[in-house]
Amino acid sequence: MPSLYDRYPFLMRYFQNGLAHDNEAGRISHCILFFGSDLPAQYELALEVARLLNCKEGGAQDCECLNCRWIRENKHPAVRTVSRVDYKPVDDKTKTVISVRQTQEIKNDLMVTSDYHRVIIFCDKDDDGNIRGINYRVFQEEAANSLLKTFEEPPSNTTFIFLTKDKTDMISTIVSRSQCFFVPAQPEENRDYSLVSELMDGYTARGKNELWAFKDRLLEIIKENGFDPTMSQVENYLNSLLKSNYLNGQLRQKLLHDLKAVSLAKREAELEIQTPSVIENLTFALFEV
Ligand SMILES: [Zn+2]
Repeated sequence: MPSLYDRYPFLMRYFQNGLAHDNEAGRISHCILFFGSDLPAQYELALEVARLLNCKEGGAQDCECLNCRWIRENKHPAVRTVSRVDYKPVDDKTKTVISVRQTQEIKNDLMVTSDYHRVIIFCDKDDDGNIRGINYRVFQEEAANSLLKTFEEPPSNTTFIFLTKDKTDMISTIVSRSQCFFVPAQPEENRDYSLVSELMDGYTARGKNELWAFKDRLLEIIKENGFDPTMSQVENYLNSLLKSNYLNGQLRQKLLHDLKAVSLAKREAELEIQTPSVIENLTFALFEV
């Protein structure tokens, strides 16, 4: 798999610059929220941020210092994952939530000073241990609220990272305290977009009068090829355009916006909203000025 630096050049450049002069410049917030459908990629990004924060030798990608090696193996003492199954005190029998008991444990641990930069990653895991996005069912209000003050004024050298599918899945008081980053999904095996290339080519330059024809053609493609395969190809198309244009700030914003719209369309389809409505919403988003 290509490295994070190839897959997310703009995000990685942002973190490298922001974290290189950690304390003083302080451009990166103490609360970071990643959102999007690729949770394993978010987790990988979180660990890489932790590595950049802890490496004492400049943070090169292939650095072999002890901090970097520990973090790559995910056994760094100061880089902790919090989920309904991780960071669980022994006397805590809850299995479905991040409990208030857990948040107390985190607060206690943070009272001890650390030589490292502590990074606490909040996520969910399924029964097989796969990373999932945190949501308000897993991280409920009482537990979240008990940490709000800590999120707001964390002890020095402490960063919290939240991984979620969608910002609306998170308690808003956490979202409002976080610096939020959309992490576009990147299907690895299949980057094909031949089904949609004719439709998509030059779409950013098209006028609103072409909106309905675009929508009808997209629905036809879906009818012939299925919803999921078509959406994956639209995503592949946008990702490939993004990759070749990430230095063009305006186009990059537009493409990230459109990738979010596609991930929203996929969620709407999961919620069994009718395809024509989903595609109408998506088309409007793509043609927004
Ligand atoms: Zn290092």
